[in-house]
Amino acid sequence: GAERTKNVLILMSDTGGGHRASAEAIRDAFHLEFGDEYNVFVKDVWKEYTGWPLNTMEQQYKFMVKHVQLWRVAFHGTSPRWIHSAYLAAIAAFYAKEVEAGLMEYKPDIIISVHPLMQHIPLWVLKWQGLQKKVIFVTVITDLSTCHRTWFHPGVNRLYCPAEEVAKRALFDGLEESQTRVFGLPIRPSFCRAIFTKDDLRVELEMDPTLPAVLLMGGGEGMGPVKKTAKALGEALFDKEMEKPIGQMVVICGRNEELASTLQSLEWNIPVKIKGFQKQMEKWMGACDCIITKAGPGTIAEALIRGLPIILNDYIPGQEKGNVPYVVDNGAGVFTRSPKETARIVAEWFSTKEDERKTISENALKLAQPDAVFDIVKDIHELACQRGPLANIPYAFTSSFSSLV
Ligand code: UDP
Repeated sequence: GAERTKNVLILMSDTGGGHRASAEAIRDAFHLEFGDEYNVFVKDVWKEYTGWPLNTMEQQYKFMVKHVQLWRVAFHGTSPRWIHSAYLAAIAAFYAKEVEAGLMEYKPDIIISVHPLMQHIPLWVLKWQGLQKKVIFVTVITDLSTCHRTWFHPGVNRLYCPAEEVAKRALFDGLEESQTRVFGLPIRPSFCRAIFTKDDLRVELEMDPTLPAVLLMGGGEGMGPVKKTAKALGEALFDKEMEKPIGQMVVICGRNEELASTLQSLEWNIPVKIKGFQKQMEKWMGACDCIITKAGPGTIAEALIRGLPIILNDYIPGQEKGNVPYVVDNGAGVFTRSPKETARIVAEWFSTKEDERKTISENALKLAQPDAVFDIVKDIHELACQRGPLANIPYAFTSSFSSLV
């Protein structure tokens, strides 16, 4: 029938690279699966509509994760529900008007949160507007295991968990089994449906066509011991006796421009590509043979889909800690904080221990969940269908903002 296009508002924040990547993954999957049936907006409502402390969340987060002790206290100190609920409710009351306008501008039929701090306030706003029975609200958790409890809000229509263990914790925190679904972490469809061969990618990215390649990165912000590891790899991947490289290296520094320029100013004995923030990570991963990264959930899930053996060299305390056993216990990679050790492992994978690299690669592929993002959008679509025609949502803010939509 000629149903009108439904509006989907995805709430995210640019803390790290993972939330945005998940948001874009969901948006792209909606488009691939349902074409024009849905209009999807990806928004950082906090940044656009509120004042301190919500609009500076990105900087605060960057500052805290650089000083890991601070982050550890913030993460664990806010875990009890009475603390974070009271805090968030106070902010909600203070910024009610702005957030309300920010949300309502998009006349959402469906709101999707991909951020741990975007359940409480939007759900409050829906309640105030009398819309909580009309607008579908779902949360997609983008942490693999030890996620913060602010992700779990009993007022959601669905909570999408990346793993069973997370779903169990959600039940423990008061959600009903009927509210939770476990499909995996949403990864951009360009990863799941990649069709390029490694040879073609290497030509396109101007890499050496034959040398095995290691990809070194540290999330969207270029965190972790990237510089020391790059230097150690520069040594370990150069065969001094034969006077030739046994591998090549790609370093993706994300938004860490200082790191990129420091590395670019060094001299290397092996073929090296040093890059800032990249939009086509699936290509770099497709062109390489193993990856070194901090334990970011997005990067891990993407590497698993590409079958890359993973060396984890760091993790953010709290939400990323559980990602280490997730990778290591499943045989998809190893953990070491030592740049020398990391470089030694890569050199072995590229020479005497090719078989080990292949086995780990197979384990990674077994753990991968490339269809998760499609399962999620199909389930949201079903929720929307169950609710029937959504056209009659009484939005109070429509007229003044309609020119923007
Ligand atoms: N990423 C990217 N370009 C870059 C660096 C990172 O697109 O130059 C993406 C990466 O592919 C992943 C996300 O940013 O999807 C990083 O998420 P992760 O959960 O690994 O770590 P975070 O940056 O959120 O701490």
